[in-house]
Amino acid sequence: MSFTVAIIGRPNVGKSTLFNRLVGRKLALVDDQPGVTRDRRRHAGKLYDLRFDVIDTAGLEDAAANSLEERMRAQTETAIREADLVLFMVDSRAGLMPDDRTFAEVVRRTGKPVVLVANKAESRGAQSGALEAWELGLGEPIPFSAEHGEGLVDLRHAIVEAI
Ligand code: GDP
Ligand code: MG
Repeated sequence: MSFTVAIIGRPNVGKSTLFNRLVGRKLALVDDQPGVTRDRRRHAGKLYDLRFDVIDTAGLEDAAANSLEERMRAQTETAIREADLVLFMVDSRAGLMPDDRTFAEVVRRTGKPVVLVANKAESRGAQSGALEAWELGLGEPIPFSAEHGEGLVDLRHAIVEAI
């Protein structure tokens, strides 16, 4: 089966880090500064035996739109349209932010299958942040670490269930 996964979430949650891990190359720039991904990026990726296309998004960089929210919406909606499955990422260390809820609402409205990933969960302190992600109403958050490669088996399982 061939399908496309779009990684969606507010800036700095770790989308590009996961994108690079799935495609097996450092194609997307990872940075502490929010908004370093200039445009959408699509590439063939894999997770164990699963092969699929992955789309990385910036979320904020679409200069054609006006307000912050419009820009997020435009980028996010385009990526979601192209995707069979949305991988929605939050930062479990930072906890839920208003932008997470905005993105989650956009995702929910599309009706696409969603897998919720609570990234940066490698530290103990991230537990409550990961649990907080239940509030988004997108199902069970998967505690995850894109940087350290933790939660990959659970992610594979969730993708298979959702697709
Ligand atoms: P994006 O803006 O959503 O694409 O986020 P990036 O992938 O550029 O990552 C933003 C920052 O979070 C970078 O400094 C990454 O190194 C860091 N980061 C990404 N994944 C993890 C993780 O699993 N744990 C921790 N502690 N930091 C992470
Ligand atoms: Mg990025």
